[in-house]
This record gives sequence, C-alpha cells and structure tokens, in this order.
Amino acid sequence: MTERLNHFIGGEHVAPSEGTYFTSTNPSTLVVLYEAARGNAEDVDRAVSSARHTFESAAWKRIGATARGHLLRRLGDLVGENAEQLAMCESLDNGKLLREMRGQMRMLPEYFYYYAGLADKIQGSQIPSTNPDILNYTQREALGVVGAITPWNSPLTLTTSKIAPALAAGNTVVIKPSEYTSRTVLLLAELADKAGFPPGAINVVTGLGAEAGAALVSHPKIAKISFTGSTGTGSHIAAQTAARFIGCTLELGGKSPNIVFGDANVANAAMGVVAGIYAAAGQTCIAGSRVFAHKSVYEELLERVTERARSIRIGDPLLDETELGPLAFKDQLEKVESYVKIGAAEGATVHSGGGRPTGLELPGYFYEPTVLTDVDNNMRVVREEIFGPVAAIMPFEREDELLALANDTEYGLAAGVWTQNLATAHRVARKLDAGTVWVNTYRAMSPMSPRQGFKNSGVGIEHGIESMYEYTRLKSIWINTDEGPVADPFVMRG
Ligand code: NAD
Repeated sequence: MTERLNHFIGGEHVAPSEGTYFTSTNPSTLVVLYEAARGNAEDVDRAVSSARHTFESAAWKRIGATARGHLLRRLGDLVGENAEQLAMCESLDNGKLLREMRGQMRMLPEYFYYYAGLADKIQGSQIPSTNPDILNYTQREALGVVGAITPWNSPLTLTTSKIAPALAAGNTVVIKPSEYTSRTVLLLAELADKAGFPPGAINVVTGLGAEAGAALVSHPKIAKISFTGSTGTGSHIAAQTAARFIGCTLELGGKSPNIVFGDANVANAAMGVVAGIYAAAGQTCIAGSRVFAHKSVYEELLERVTERARSIRIGDPLLDETELGPLAFKDQLEKVESYVKIGAAEGATVHSGGGRPTGLELPGYFYEPTVLTDVDNNMRVVREEIFGPVAAIMPFEREDELLALANDTEYGLAAGVWTQNLATAHRVARKLDAGTVWVNTYRAMSPMSPRQGFKNSGVGIEHGIESMYEYTRLKSIWINTDEGPVADPFVMRG
C-alpha cells in the first residue's frame, strides 16, 4: 500500500477535507513514492486560521525576538541532524543528484542560524524632530500570516529562504510546497514542532497550484505571499495581491547570460558554463542558458564545453559517480524535447546532445546535455526559459554589442562573466541588467548575500538582512511630551 502524507496544521497531521490524494513519482524509476493530501480551500482556511490564531496568541507574543532566534537555531540543528534523510527524500522526489542535495542540506542549517542571529537585530529608530517636545520613533512589526509557495527544484532551500526570515520577524506561516516535492517540507514542519515552535506557527498544506496554491493567495487573512516559481504564475499572483494591497515577494524565472571574454581562463570558463547549465540538469532559475563567447575563444570554448557535455555521466542520481540525473517530471521532459525541436526548426544547429540517452537501465525522464549553435537573440530557444540542460552558445565581437545582446531579455536574474581583466569585470558587472553577477565563478549562493530578480525575474529581495524587511511593516510613532494646553488646534506642530 502506498504511503500517505497528510497536511501539517496546528502541530498535527490532518487528512484532506475531501479525502483526496495525489501521487509523487520518482523521476528516475517512475515508481510511485507516496500519496500526498490534495488540499482545497477548506484545508487552506484551516491552516491560515491556525496560523492566525497562533500569531494572535499570548504564547507567541511572549516568545520574544531572542527566543525566536533560539527556536530557529534549534530547528537548524535538527535539519543538520536529519540532513541525510532530507537529502535522500529530495533526490528521490525531484531527481536531482543526491550529492547536490547533501550539499544543500549541509548548508541549510546556516540559513536558520543566520536568521536566528538577525531575529533580535531588526529594530526601528528615533527620527530627528524640529520640535523638542516631540519624540518620533519607528518600530518594525510582524505582518501576520505569511503564505509561502515554493517550487520543486530546491524544495527545502527555497522554503527556508522564506520561512526563516518570516519567523525571525515574528510572523507565522502557511507553506504550499510544489506538488512534485511535498515530503521534505512536511518533514521540516515536523522538525519545527520538535524544535519547540508552538502549534500553528508553521503549517503545510500540500496540493496543486490551481487549488491549494490559489486558495492560499486569495485567503483574506493572509498578510503577504512569498512565491518562488515561474514568471507566469508569479504574474498571476502579483495581480491578485496587488488588488488586495497585500505585499508579495516573487522569485521567478531566468535566461541568464554566461559571458566569456577573450582574456578569460578558457578552461575554467568552460567548466563554469558546464556548471551553469548542466548542473541540476539545467533545472535552476539561475541556469546560464545563454552563453556568449568572444570570437577569439569561441571555438576553443565550444570544443571544451562539448567535450565535457559528451562525457557527462547520466544515470541514477543516488550514485556518487552520476553527474546528470533525470528531469523532474514528464512535462519537463516534453518541454525540453519540444524546445530543442523548435530551435532546430528556427535554424539552430544541435551541435551536441539533443535527444534522450540510450542504453540506460532506468526508464526515467533523462535528456542529454545539449549544445545549440547558430543561434541568435530572436529565436525562442534564446528568449524563453527552457529549464533543462540546453545551452545556446553564441560568438560576439565587441563589448557594446555583447552588452546589448546580454541585456536583450525579459529576464534579469543572474549573469556570469569570465575575464582576467579587473576593469572589464567591474565595468561589465555594472552594466549587466541582472540581480546577481558572478565573475570567474557561477551558482555561488549564501543566505548572507541579498538576491533580487530584475525585470520579469522577480519583485523584492531574498537572503541577506534586506530580506528581513520583506516580512515586517514599519510604524511611525509620535509622542507629544508637552502636557501644556494646545495653543492652536488647527496647526499641530511636528
Ligand atoms: P510553478 O510556477 O509552476 O509552480 C511554483 C509553485 O506555485 C508550486 O507550488 C505550484 O503548485 C504553485 N502554483 C502554480 N499555480 C499556482 C496558482 N495559480 N496560484 C498559486 N500557486 C500556484 O513553477 P515550478 O515549475 O514549480 O518551478 C520552476 C520555476 O521556478 C522556473 O521558472 C524557475 O526559474 C523558477 N525558480 C525561480 C527561483 C528564483 O529564486 N528566482 C528559484 C527556483 C525556481
């Protein structure tokens, strides 16, 4: 009998109100892993009510900022102690390499420790006043119940980036994980319970985007939505939250340029290109899917990337030697297959890869690391997010032309620059329209470093001290210390 996972609401496992479940499948073996509760508006209402109840409770208010930090630290410890199980569950669910998920889980406690440290450092300030009798100060307040909606590609890391600052700031949360990766987010909620968070502080409603996700976004008691996912869904959520004047933080898609200048260490740059597009089978928002190489190094770079792409070991993501696992689900595979066909029809050359690998023992959604050449900025494969292991490699000649091409995209999430020239590095980083720029590295990330998607890649900031402000509101308080008679009620002095 298939294992059944229920919602986690008010510190308890709660069956879905309609009694329906959906399945999660291992994308390598196509074996069903478990069934998860298919949440609806009633389940979401129950979770939000529980989170609101806890938010308003004396018990939650009594837990001061420092104590919230202790709770987060304890949760970080528990995540560290359970890292192996969490990594295994994520790898089974989304097909990403176990090695990579282990790395993410080893890093994850640091996210909790970082926000634990910030919990009691978010403060207001005294505002100067021209009237000595007036004391004006600000205070930062929690918003209430934050709804966190997350994707499947790095389920726990992306969930933690939202709930750790939200909780540190004193909010309570309801999480709607991706329907492809429900398990580890439920496990995290159980660990939070063990860490001592009061029931209702962290709730999880599993289910489909159009059902549980939509119900969370439209719930009247939600104070804010923090979303990571596709630009299409983000745009829909932005419109809905704007209509109700509640905040939203959006981390969306990308089509990031990875730029190799003529003076780059081409061997390292080639590995940076490989890391940028083939790690996680290209299923990362920051995938360096548009590669621009100066014409003086274009052939060498293309050869090095192609050689490495062809030698990538495709297979079981649980094995240490595997370098490329499957795509996370069938639609993903079909999307990647169709984009490569679209590219070929548009005139691109499939220089390497471009199909499903043969000779694998596993039946899953595997796709070869692919290199497209003879591409230009008008093609859909260069403009649209493929979210798969497909690199479009293009030569460039002049820097101004390169910058125009690199910035000619609706997205603005990240960019890579490979050069030995310090001036080029700083100049180009400044001119790129991207929220994160890496020079001579790619995919580096830390909870300490703020990140923001420019253009259609997002709204608001995640990570860093700045992200704490996303989960607070600022109140300005004016105290008149003069108790004498009011001389003129029509002219109040500030
Ligand atoms: P998605 O938009 O399909 O789904 C994301 C989440 O939103 C899921 O939990 C889904 O159930 C939910 N959802 C879907 N429709 C909804 C609706 N109408 N109302 C409310 N919730 C809804 O995205 P995905 O396929 O899960 O993730 C891949 C996308 O995420 C890619 O575009 C990728 O670039 C992006 N992403 C961005 C970042 C970042 O930091 N910028 C990080 C990871 C992934």
